[in-house]
Amino acid sequence: MRVSVEEALELWQAPDKELIRRANEVRGRFHDPKRATYMVMRIINYTNVCVAQCDYCAFYVLPNQQGGYVLSRDEVFAKIDELVEFGGDLVGFNGGFNPRLPLDYYCDLFASVRERYGEQVEFYALTIAEFVFLADRARLTYAEAAARLRDAGVHWVTGGGSEILTEDFRARHAKWKYTVADYFEAQRAVVESGMRTTATMVIGFDETLDERLEHLQRTRDFQDETGGLFSFLCWTYKPYGTAFGGREISPQEYWRWIALSRIFLDNVKHVRTSVLTQNEGAFRALDYGADDFDLPIEDEVTQKAGARIDLDLDGLLAIPRRLGYTVEYRRAERPAALTPS
Ligand code: SF4
Repeated sequence: MRVSVEEALELWQAPDKELIRRANEVRGRFHDPKRATYMVMRIINYTNVCVAQCDYCAFYVLPNQQGGYVLSRDEVFAKIDELVEFGGDLVGFNGGFNPRLPLDYYCDLFASVRERYGEQVEFYALTIAEFVFLADRARLTYAEAAARLRDAGVHWVTGGGSEILTEDFRARHAKWKYTVADYFEAQRAVVESGMRTTATMVIGFDETLDERLEHLQRTRDFQDETGGLFSFLCWTYKPYGTAFGGREISPQEYWRWIALSRIFLDNVKHVRTSVLTQNEGAFRALDYGADDFDLPIEDEVTQKAGARIDLDLDGLLAIPRRLGYTVEYRRAERPAALTPS
């Protein structure tokens, strides 16, 4: 039975035992109860120059400020080669809204990555947030911009950069990033182009419970309409070095939110837990309904704000095993619509 926002508000008051039971009921519809999957990935932050000025970001510098960079093609390739040596095969490109880099720059970059690595390495080309910025600057419709990326060899534009999807939250913290209406319009164009996408969420700023639930409701509605969301990943805000500041939420609150998300998003197959922001504690979220996770080897955006990356991948994988899960490597799938028949 589908849970309403009002029922979710009540469930948030329920003891852990009840949340865990309900979350595992939904997890069990999609997955073996004691199996989890994972990927080894690297986020490549190709530029830190950004004009969006989100107050929760410790990563960006403005154009012409000291410390700005754009990675060269060779630097990008070297980072991907290193990922492959680590046994990984997924790259997430993520950078700032750099006004000096037009959409063509990205199409060339992604085409060159596809040409060099073929199907050996999959990549999340952009987040929806960056996609909105680039399409608008190129004065293209979202459908036209999505077609340009797809034709350059892109398979995935992820739902990253979503934080909390309410217009109030955007106005409080990220008024130059995008509107919620634009976000979903762009994501719909990505799905309609044949590429795939994901849903993300970041909790632990100053968002209210109502705002968190509005985010989940919009995500579930989008999935009902499009079926384009492969997974839902939630991570937690890291406050260090940001203008907004604040404190980190507790691991318990994170696990409980994973459980409530698993229950609410009954139409999304994968719920992913964040090793990047929760470290060893992320694996406990498997008991709360998560079924999948990344082992990241780099992400400058969250590392600048206090995230710690552990490169002892075997040591990390031992933790879910001790919790009773078998863990299996999952390759990033090519979307069915883009698979040659
Ligand atoms: S979160 Fe992203 S869009 Fe916002 S300031 Fe940082 S780099 Fe720019």
